[in-house]
Amino acid sequence: MKLLDKVCVVTGAASGIGKEIALRFAQEGGKVVIADLSKEAAQRTVDDIHRDGGQAMAVGMDVSDELLVRGAIAEVVAAWGKIDVLVSNAGIQIVQPLESYRFADWKKMLAIHLDGAFLTTQACWPHMKAAGGGSIIYMGSVHSKEASVLKSAYVTAKHGLIGLSKVAAKEGGPQGIRANVICPGFVRTPLVDKQIPEQARELRISEEEVVRNVMLKETVDGEFTTVEDVAEVALMLASFRSNALTGQSIVVSHGWAMQ
Ligand code: NAD
Repeated sequence: MKLLDKVCVVTGAASGIGKEIALRFAQEGGKVVIADLSKEAAQRTVDDIHRDGGQAMAVGMDVSDELLVRGAIAEVVAAWGKIDVLVSNAGIQIVQPLESYRFADWKKMLAIHLDGAFLTTQACWPHMKAAGGGSIIYMGSVHSKEASVLKSAYVTAKHGLIGLSKVAAKEGGPQGIRANVICPGFVRTPLVDKQIPEQARELRISEEEVVRNVMLKETVDGEFTTVEDVAEVALMLASFRSNALTGQSIVVSHGWAMQ
């Protein structure tokens, strides 16, 4: 088992990519903390993990709220004594043209993606230090490397995560704390299902064209990336044995954005 008794906090783990990462970590013996906006939604992932014989606990946390983040991490440490892995994954998408992008939406996007990554990192940091090291994984995107129309706030935030992870890797190196970014292509989750009709409306094309000509156009095979694909990479980063793999970003996208 690759994560036996490792305490792994996964934000946004009530749904989609975060949920699959939590399930996968639990299969490898991790004690998984399901952190999401509502504790009830988080508890449903916990129930799934318990049903499969794994260990998990739910915490309610808005990642953009400093007090809630600190309170939830304190709850985890009180229950399980340490933190070994943080997957900063919680996120949303709001698509609008730059010219009319609402400032309130811009601030909300940066707060969830960037403040959330910063606050959860800061809250977990002393516990990783005390444990002699840890692994921080930020959920970036191909949009950490590339731009798309309608996504000014998302592209800005996802690029920003690369900068944060590099600093975390440098400052964390001497403490054995590693930091990396996963950059998935499009994955069919509620976040993507919601934006297909929205993009169709804004771009005046059909939903099928959004999928074929916008989302999957640059892939090598016209395929969506899956939650399982992303979870496998997260497992590799979480369980990697040394600082040899830190400060990096790994694109998982069926070949969209080759480097
Ligand atoms: P999702 O909508 O299925 O899940 C997102 C989860 O985050 C939800 O459970 C939601 O409640 C939670 N969340 C939202 N705001 C929160 C907050 N303020 N505090 C705590 N939890 C919050 O979406 P997903 O597709 O699984 O996305 C997960 C991450 O992966 C996001 O960061 C997203 O940007 C990134 N990503 C997704 C794709 C994709 O194609 N789906 C591609 C690249 C990157």
